[in-house]
Amino acid sequence: MTYDPNNIFAKVLRGELPCHNIYEDDDTLAFLDIMPRSEGHALVITKEKATDLFDVSPQALVKLMAVVQKLSPEIKEAVGADGVLIAQFNGAAAGQTVFHLHVHIIPRKEGTELKPHAGIMADQAILATTAEKIRKKLQTA
Ligand code: AMP
Repeated sequence: MTYDPNNIFAKVLRGELPCHNIYEDDDTLAFLDIMPRSEGHALVITKEKATDLFDVSPQALVKLMAVVQKLSPEIKEAVGADGVLIAQFNGAAAGQTVFHLHVHIIPRKEGTELKPHAGIMADQAILATTAEKIRKKLQTA
């Protein structure tokens, strides 16, 4: 599949669409999913123009996964979760809906079911509060 420069996450990267930003460096951006499966559900995206795991350079992939590794425990603690589900979809048949490579960080609490994938839009004020909580946790990490 050819990379579409007008996909939603490309627009977020260019600042054309807002996001609840939690982390950024030269190679990656992380922000909250607008239809979270749990509190603190975050997405880490590469700044490289890559549709999926098979389209990205190994160098950018390493940087992306290093950020996933760094952010996951902090997000987990910030929202008081017990575990973290890491998910990544390649192709529509696998559940991918946005064709710019991203990794889901989904905090899990014992006994709490996940909401549906890309199913229910969250309240923006709640997302803003969660993002602030995570940014504060990252500042003290
Ligand atoms: P995937 O199905 O792996 O491609 O996941 C795409 C994810 O992006 C879904 O979980 C959506 O809820 C989420 N999403 C879609 N649009 C936005 C957006 N503008 N900001 C943040 N998350 C989004």
